[in-house]
Amino acid sequence: MTSLSSQYAISLEFFPPRDLAAQERLVRTAKQLMALNPGYVSVTFGAGGATRDGTADTVRTFANLGCEVAPHLACIGTSRADLSAILGAYREQGVRRVVALRGDLPSGMGSLYGEFRYASELVAFIRETTGDWFHIEVAAYPEMHPQAESLARDMDHFVEKVQAGADSAITQYFFNPDAYSDFVERAQARGVAIPIIPGIMPIVNNTQLTRFSQMCGAEIPRWLRLRLNDYADDRESLRAFGADVVAQLCQTLLERGAPGLHFYTLNGSEAVRNIWRRLSPGEL
Ligand code: FAD
Repeated sequence: MTSLSSQYAISLEFFPPRDLAAQERLVRTAKQLMALNPGYVSVTFGAGGATRDGTADTVRTFANLGCEVAPHLACIGTSRADLSAILGAYREQGVRRVVALRGDLPSGMGSLYGEFRYASELVAFIRETTGDWFHIEVAAYPEMHPQAESLARDMDHFVEKVQAGADSAITQYFFNPDAYSDFVERAQARGVAIPIIPGIMPIVNNTQLTRFSQMCGAEIPRWLRLRLNDYADDRESLRAFGADVVAQLCQTLLERGAPGLHFYTLNGSEAVRNIWRRLSPGEL
């Protein structure tokens, strides 16, 4: 049987653990998820440098496990000199891929833009200073970035990131596959030819999902919200239902031509494995 990961670009996203116990859990999680044979794993970065060391340490942890790692890099509130130093260190370590973002500053740092305002400027800076060394991923928003002036202007800004030198894109999560298809069609109509990989959010906790979705502008369709509310405190049934829904979403996306899947793991392995088992029975 041909495995899913040999047919599609599969990647996994993690965040830097907060303490030693979480670090140990992360290593166990990562080892379990290696069965999915991901092309790379990515590690988030707190805008303003909040997780700078944590991101770098986690990148080393994954590299030691033999994974290709893509550190995220958020430019808002970080100076050119600091970004150069971070990129230089990754280059020395042999890292060949980065996820270039604007980032969101923690509340209280709202007006601190620093030397960069937008991710397109970071992409241009990485190309200018490091040539073709890094494969650059950027973010894409099928349901529009919450601060965008309009859907059309948001697409203009996405195209600017591609023109600045992005090699591929990962989307914000969504639950309506039409949002993804529409985004890809609109991007292609603008001449964008890079792969646009859907970002997949497992459903494990209704309250957390609702909060995240309000913050990042991802829509939970009414039918899905009502179904999730009905599970109330029955976490096990909610997770099984969530895995069914998300596996179906992944299946639809792949059938419609999505080149791969990028899973937001939330540093856990079970939810992603549950989706994978439904997508590719017998593989795990
Ligand atoms: P941009 O592409 O710069 O866009 C931000 C906003 O500015 C959009 O509304 C856009 O339309 C607008 N815009 C862009 N250019 C212009 C312009 N020239 N003039 C006017 N408006 C413009 N955040 C973190 O802090 N750390 C992470 O590790 C992280 N990882 C992420 C991974 C993925 C896959 C995704 C989808 C998001 C991630 N985020 C992360 C969140 C991201 O940083 C936020 O969504 C942030 O608000 C926007 O980042 P961006 O890179 O998309 O910004």
